[in-house]
Amino acid sequence: DDLASQGGVQVRRSNKKPVVLVLGSGWAAHSCIKVIDTDACDVIVVSPRNHFCFTPMLPSTAVGTVEFRSLLEPIRVSNEFVGYLEADAEILDLESKTVTCSAVGAYESGYRPNFTVPYDMLVVAVGEQSATFGVPGVTEHCSFMKEVRDTVKIRRKLGETFELAALPGTSEEERRRLLHFVVVGGGPTGVEFSGTLSDYVRSDLRRKYPLLMPYVRVSLLQSAQGILTQFDSGLARRALDDLQRTGVEIRTGVRVIQVTDRQVVLKGGERMDYGLCVWSCGNAPRPLVKSLIDSLPEQNGSKLAVDPFLRVIGATDVLAMGDCSAIVNAPLPATAQVAAQQGSYLAHMINKGYVIGTGGMDSVPPA
Ligand SMILES: Cc1cc2nc3c(=O)[nH]c(=O)nc-3n(C[C@H](O)[C@H](O)[C@H](O)COP(=O)(O)OP(=O)(O)OC[C@H]3O[C@@H](n4cnc5c(N)ncnc54)[C@H](O)[C@@H]3O)c2cc1C
Repeated sequence: DDLASQGGVQVRRSNKKPVVLVLGSGWAAHSCIKVIDTDACDVIVVSPRNHFCFTPMLPSTAVGTVEFRSLLEPIRVSNEFVGYLEADAEILDLESKTVTCSAVGAYESGYRPNFTVPYDMLVVAVGEQSATFGVPGVTEHCSFMKEVRDTVKIRRKLGETFELAALPGTSEEERRRLLHFVVVGGGPTGVEFSGTLSDYVRSDLRRKYPLLMPYVRVSLLQSAQGILTQFDSGLARRALDDLQRTGVEIRTGVRVIQVTDRQVVLKGGERMDYGLCVWSCGNAPRPLVKSLIDSLPEQNGSKLAVDPFLRVIGATDVLAMGDCSAIVNAPLPATAQVAAQQGSYLAHMINKGYVIGTGGMDSVPPA
């Protein structure tokens, strides 16, 4: 049976091979399905995103120096022997070993199909979502830098702000607002994007809109006292100098407490007009991961605690990798390199036919 092409409420299993259900299509899942042996197991990928995205180049797509298409690989192309279902995994039932999913697309009637996928081995690789810290207005008014759809939106918005600012009826004040680009978050993504944006605006767009250049500002807001706090202080200092040289106005020690449709409000009452606000303030667990953590007494962090074999501690036949997980006592950085290496490591482990069993630091390793 072709598992992935089964319609209806429950995806039927073939019973010929064990089913490995992979949740996600990011760095970890992508490298896993590139390596996994589909002769030995039926592999199903469930993810709301039907493509892999090469995230390090995302900031460049927002300004058009790299084309969107060159960052993406359709999951159906990554491994044609893997079944793919475009859906969000919503409920994990560790007892019945099933995952209930909700399709991304809806029929014309508006009905969004739900279905259940059974598994023998579950691989959770859903990454994390952007953290908003509950700051009012962020979700409604800010752009994020996580997916290609985010950078498509930023690119369109950049074009709109310049064209609006160039109109004869636009006031000086409105021009200044439209061309103030605010990036919130002084981590790697915020720093890279503010630098990329400033370069782009001041070099490429200077030729198109020379008269608007005096109105352009790029601000980077950071709540900590420095930027790139997770890096060596020498590197952070160098990045700060380089950013300032490209014209980015860096403000550290400032906390955003609200974002409206036109203003960023700082703690203390200062209000900054903006034309585009990009929010890049780190990550938070996805609801699926949070509910799995809450359901297992052995778990208590914001990431799925796994043992060195990537087995979720306290769960049976469940593995987790990439940004949504952390190895107990040996956490690794949340990077693409780590996620990709874990993906292929896990695939090799499955290919060797290891019995995964229950995760835990005292549990016997796979044999
Ligand atoms: C702009 C940007 C630049 C970066 N630059 C670098 C860099 O230069 N170097 C570096 O090492 N790292 C970089 N990173 C970090 C790197 O992208 C992450 O560490 C990496 O993506 C983690 O891989 P992952 O597989 O754990 O998660 P992700 O790649 O985030 O993939 C998660 C997947 O899960 C899917 N998903 C979400 N919810 C569900 C659900 N409910 N059910 C099923 N699937 C779901 C998502 O659609 C996605 O396909 C960057 C990240 C960003 C955003």
